Amino acid sequence: MSGRLNGKVALISGGASGLGAAQATLYAREGAKVVIGDLQESLGAETVATIAAKGGDARFVRLDVTDPASWHAAVAFAASEFGKLTTLVNNAGIFHPGGVENETEQGWAQMIAVNQTGVFLGMKAAAPELLKSGNAAIVNISSLYGLIGSADAIGYHASKAAVRVMSKGTALEFAKRGIRVNTIFPGQICTPILGDITPEQDAAIKAAIPMGEVGDPMDIAYGSLYLASDEAKYVSGAELWIDGGWYAAC
Ligand code: NAD
Repeated sequence: MSGRLNGKVALISGGASGLGAAQATLYAREGAKVVIGDLQESLGAETVATIAAKGGDARFVRLDVTDPASWHAAVAFAASEFGKLTTLVNNAGIFHPGGVENETEQGWAQMIAVNQTGVFLGMKAAAPELLKSGNAAIVNISSLYGLIGSADAIGYHASKAAVRVMSKGTALEFAKRGIRVNTIFPGQICTPILGDITPEQDAAIKAAIPMGEVGDPMDIAYGSLYLASDEAKYVSGAELWIDGGWYAAC
């Protein structure tokens, strides 16, 4: 442990699985106290146990990012367990395919509720505690699909593009008050969110990525670690693409 996050207390939404679990694990390894907020209680408990087995300090709290009361309870839990909150990672997200013709109104509403409104509610609930700490960071997880279009994911594109500009606006709102806000744009990373993809889809994805491979969750976690740490004390409103060079080719 090199202690790059010593003294930090981080709440990570969607921290039970995939990119969230990788960030939780790395944050704890670097000295942060971590609260994982997720709907998946048993997986969240497993991730906490894995962190503890490696000497880290983590807790799980059930969190539904679409519910303001759930967010307030998670923030209060983090502050009462660890005495403060310095870091919020808005990582929870969902994906399902669907363009204008196929996406349902219900599917659209669900995507916006989790991926977009969930980020707003998280920042709103956490801001009072983050402001108290005086040296805080928010890391929002958008997507390469928040920057570019595709034919079959209208709700996902809309929600992730919203996160991009919401982050910039919030960075300005808190620029002089001790909260930095930055955004990560993952390309294609191997996690459960991808669901079952056919070998043909896998080949097409790899062909689109200049580096020729999908990413690993730790590739995102290392970028998040930097943005959450004091090494990034002069970085706010920034956009970090971690995508094997994909955006450079768009
Ligand atoms: P994942 O499915 O492994 O993890 C997402 C987590 O969010 C899950 O643990 C899930 O239970 C949780 N979650 C979903 N709805 C929730 C809710 N209402 N309240 C609380 N938690 C909820 O997927 P992942 O790939 O690790 O995704 C993490 C983030 O990264 C998402 O925002 C996703 O859009 C983004 N992202 C992923 C990729 C990729 O290729 N994996 C690419 C770009 C962006």
